Amino acid sequence: MITIIHSVTIVTLNRNNDIFEGYVTIKNNTFEKTGEGSPTDIEIEQADKVIDGKRKWLLPGFINTHGHLGSALLRGAGDDMPLMTWLKQVMWPNESRFDRETVLQAAQVAMIEMIKSGTTTFLDMYHLHMKETAKLVIDKGLRAVLGRGMIGLCPAHEQEDKLAESVSLFETFNGAGDGRLSIVLAPHAPYTCPPTFLKRVAETAEKYRMMIHTHVSETRGEVEEHIKTYGKRPVSHLDELGVFNGPVLAAHAVHVNEEEIEILKNRGAAISHNPASNLKLGSGVAPVPDFLEKGITVSLGTDSTASNNNLDMFEEARLSALIHKGTRENPEVTSAKDTLEMATLKGAEALSLENLGKIERDFKADFILVEPGQAHLTPWNKDRILSHLVYAARGSDVTDTFIDGKAVYSDRQLLLFDEEKIVFEANQLAKKFL
Ligand SMILES: [Zn+2]
Repeated sequence: MITIIHSVTIVTLNRNNDIFEGYVTIKNNTFEKTGEGSPTDIEIEQADKVIDGKRKWLLPGFINTHGHLGSALLRGAGDDMPLMTWLKQVMWPNESRFDRETVLQAAQVAMIEMIKSGTTTFLDMYHLHMKETAKLVIDKGLRAVLGRGMIGLCPAHEQEDKLAESVSLFETFNGAGDGRLSIVLAPHAPYTCPPTFLKRVAETAEKYRMMIHTHVSETRGEVEEHIKTYGKRPVSHLDELGVFNGPVLAAHAVHVNEEEIEILKNRGAAISHNPASNLKLGSGVAPVPDFLEKGITVSLGTDSTASNNNLDMFEEARLSALIHKGTRENPEVTSAKDTLEMATLKGAEALSLENLGKIERDFKADFILVEPGQAHLTPWNKDRILSHLVYAARGSDVTDTFIDGKAVYSDRQLLLFDEEKIVFEANQLAKKFL
């Protein structure tokens, strides 16, 4: 299957950061060619499908590296609370009453929101019905990294059950959906997973060569508590327990000191920076300029709709670009290009996904089209596109989303979801909860 999309401005995010007017040729699920100008008559003839890009911008799809899809129906259920109060009073009591239908309905609401705002790959850490979520990802054409969220505040046999469930998810679904699905180990956090359990997680990760994804040092209070209980800071402790022996993606990393940043760097850990969630829960601002200066891979995540409260990666990127300039009183600490990379190819790097996050030959054809003919993106020329994408654009500017070479959203029409039905049913279900 060969598809050509012509008459587009291509934002490649390649090494030279090329931006040009031209066309892309997609063979099955990968880019076969990116070319300036127009395709030749022969190229058009050989294509199975030819799409007029209508002078839109074509760029890599966003990669959202941290979220919890299953809790999407708790959007707006508990604002203006600190993390621990919010978890204990809102999240955990409601989630304990979630059934299969609620989790899957929530996951679909989140998937629709992500596709419509240009996200093509997402990471989901959740503890309920992950096999069903995996099947949904396969059916609905998305690319995802899933981890069965594990809280270790339970007897050892229950910890082992959770680990076994994670391994079973890995054995059944890793690489499924033509390689669109990856499975990771997802211990919730150092404050919810005792050291003995984290050691077991590290051993399991090594045995099955799985990546670990976990929340790390999200709030000042949890770090202080950790020091009181164990006499050491969380990142140093995780290192001692062997958690960093393989690839790790740490969500948040807001309260890490210089020594811990050094450990993260030396161990090759990546960060999922979630600025909106960190601000909303009053957790703080992660030292992203320091991570970038050290060469640590920093990606972007929204966290769940319960602490954001949307999954719009344009908004996350803009917030990330602005907040560090403000807190450091220095507009040079982040750029539009760095930020856009964090939302795309650095996300792929953080999730250990190869050939993803750029518009380049042999890269996976995960991309979006953005409609530039709107007042809030005017005026534009190719020198201003990166700036507009980070500082002016929004999720609703996306008109088309392609994943693995296939359209899942075309001319603002969802091809695999009945949005009206899902939204109606989700609203009915949500009445049972806060
Ligand atoms: Zn989270």
